[in-house]
Amino acid sequence: MTSVERTGHCLCGAVRFAARGEPKWVAHCHCESCRRATSAAFATYAGYPADAVTWTAATPRSYASSPGVTRTFCANCGTPMSFTGERWPGEIHLFAASFDAPESLSPQVHVHAEEQLPWVHLGDDLPRIAKNTA
Ligand SMILES: [Zn+2]
Ligand SMILES: [Zn+2]
Repeated sequence: MTSVERTGHCLCGAVRFAARGEPKWVAHCHCESCRRATSAAFATYAGYPADAVTWTAATPRSYASSPGVTRTFCANCGTPMSFTGERWPGEIHLFAASFDAPESLSPQVHVHAEEQLPWVHLGDDLPRIAKNTA
């Protein structure tokens, strides 16, 4: 029996995680909230069962970014680390870019595509969902 484990960390290295098994999904989110939370044009998430992810060094600080939504970040360097929301019970969404091997994750879909910035041009053929699935 093989079990995949991926690891990742924040910019300064204080917060580290291990994620066991394959993610349930990997998606680009173009919503304004994710843009602001990351100060980036869009955010790419890997969704895992919450019990498959362990913080292996410092635990990130958390805050409620909107009703029912908790985002975490490294208290030292500020790197966004995770998203959890009442709409996705039992899941934690990690940022694909904070994995040690982000190239090992394959995004499958764009969500909130209707909010995509007009100057973001992506050449993939992935499905584009105007708002959100799940
Ligand atoms: Zn950090
Ligand atoms: Zn979003």
